[in-house]
Amino acid sequence: MLSCKEVSLLISRSYDARLTWRQRLAVRLHLLVCEACRRFTEQMRFLRRAGRAFADRQRDSASNGLSADARDHIRRTLRGQD
Ligand SMILES: [Zn+2]
Repeated sequence: MLSCKEVSLLISRSYDARLTWRQRLAVRLHLLVCEACRRFTEQMRFLRRAGRAFADRQRDSASNGLSADARDHIRRTLRGQD
């Protein structure tokens, strides 16, 4: 059975590259019995989602300083004037 250190490395690596089926199986088996690694996995997912949401928000506000909703509203209004 993999150690917690090996599992956390594989979980981190899985976000950059696909693990082999043996590695995925070993991680799953470990997660079945290890509460700490399950918590680590949930925290990694949360951080990735939060990071992506932050990057999306930054991208939206970087374009002309307008939110996606504001740009969409302007686009619809201009189209209506055609
Ligand atoms: Zn563990």
